[in-house]
Amino acid sequence: MNDTAVAPSSDSVLIVGACQAGVQLACSLREYGYPHPITVVGAEPHAPYQRPPLSKALLHGETTVDSLALRSAEYYAEQGIDLILGERITDVERGDGGGGTAVAESGRRFTFGRLALTTGARARRLPVEGAGLRGVHYLRTADDALELRGSLARAEDVLVIGGGFIGLEVAASARKLGRGVTVALADDRLLGRAVGAPTSEFFLQAHTRRGVRTHLSVQPVRFLDDGSGQVRGAELADGRVLTADLVVVGIGAAPRTELAERMGLHVDNGIVVDAAGLTSDGTTVAAGDCVACPPPVDVPGGLERIRFESVNTAVEQARTAAATLAGRPAAYRAVPWFWSDQFDLKLQVAGLSGGHDHYVVRGDPDSEKFGVLYYHGSRLIAGDFVNRPGEFLALRAALAGGRTVPPEVAGDTTVPLKKLTVEAAAPAAAAGAVHAGS
Ligand SMILES: Cc1cc2nc3c(=O)[nH]c(=O)nc-3n(C[C@H](O)[C@H](O)[C@H](O)COP(=O)(O)OP(=O)(O)OC[C@H]3O[C@@H](n4cnc5c(N)ncnc54)[C@H](O)[C@@H]3O)c2cc1C
Repeated sequence: MNDTAVAPSSDSVLIVGACQAGVQLACSLREYGYPHPITVVGAEPHAPYQRPPLSKALLHGETTVDSLALRSAEYYAEQGIDLILGERITDVERGDGGGGTAVAESGRRFTFGRLALTTGARARRLPVEGAGLRGVHYLRTADDALELRGSLARAEDVLVIGGGFIGLEVAASARKLGRGVTVALADDRLLGRAVGAPTSEFFLQAHTRRGVRTHLSVQPVRFLDDGSGQVRGAELADGRVLTADLVVVGIGAAPRTELAERMGLHVDNGIVVDAAGLTSDGTTVAAGDCVACPPPVDVPGGLERIRFESVNTAVEQARTAAATLAGRPAAYRAVPWFWSDQFDLKLQVAGLSGGHDHYVVRGDPDSEKFGVLYYHGSRLIAGDFVNRPGEFLALRAALAGGRTVPPEVAGDTTVPLKKLTVEAAAPAAAAGAVHAGS
């Protein structure tokens, strides 16, 4: 046990969670000129890495975990950021003000002046019989991906449970490796939480064209044992059996809030933060997949809080939290965006389409280059683009600049999207306010 206090200054910052948000928070503190000690503690053994390639390039063997590092060891040393890996913080003893001591599972102790939580999320588990069989995988960490990659090399038939981004990216990767692939999901459309109906339908057709079998609105009730402890498929609620020698469960992620709960912070599907990234104790900040924050854009009908799972929002929230710690708080206001790569299809999404009352499809989905623009009244609130990176940039700029594309001309692909944008009539401008620190 090491009782040495790692960070001696009362202004020292301890960041719990060493990945996208945690590393960004540390980097942004230095960018803001924060002069005090910064320590980032992470539970995983790997240097902080990008997660997106885990379901893409890493799975089909095109990259290694080492090459996914967010920053080099030299960078952390130059910036005076103390990176400590393989230590899980299990408790926080509070002192005066924002300070205290964080205690790791190993017994190691870290004193701090200010605390930041960037604890991310974990893969949701499917609590059915057979969930512990060999060949049933989840995908969240680099170690999960390496294990899955090993199993994929030996598998013939892959069953993916879940039709969200990770499930579909794994399905595409497995297909690229020549495996038979079946996707089964409880929802009645793919990507239902993130995109509108036309984009869901496009991905259903695109995966089918590439040999993926899809079962919508089904519920696995147990995984079947081949007699040796190895999975041989899943039984559905309607009695059908889907055969597979490898199962990947991709049914979403749950925020890691256990430490925040232990600290008595307000947690409600994520660590609740205000627009400046402050938690309910008024001094600890939090950012990334673990937080529930006020929506960073105006949402039709209003919405108290939202939790994101994307690189862009983890980075923006971390910048916001760093600004707060550095004494220059600013509200997180920015158009959220994310991407997904499946086969040769790049999906890019900006804004929050949840409150739309109509949409316009721009281009022909069968060409596999098209977009969908979502409206609330005449206000453009979001858009999805497939294999249209230039148009996606125009969409983001329009949303950020409080502009719209009149729905009656939005489908005209003879005119570039950029040229179709006009000033929005009223409140859309607020949706475009970009975070001051970005
Ligand atoms: C397979 C996969 C593919 C993805 N693809 C995309 C994509 O294409 N586009 C996109 O925008 N987003 C994608 N994402 C989402 C994106 O990677 C996440 O939104 C982002 O990583 C969130 O960063 P984070 O730092 O908040 O959390 P995380 O990346 O989850 O990191 C949190 C870290 O904190 C550590 N930790 C937790 N609790 C403790 C503790 N008590 N003590 C110490 N350490 C702790 C965890 O071990 C973890 O390393 C993908 C995610 C996955 C899993």
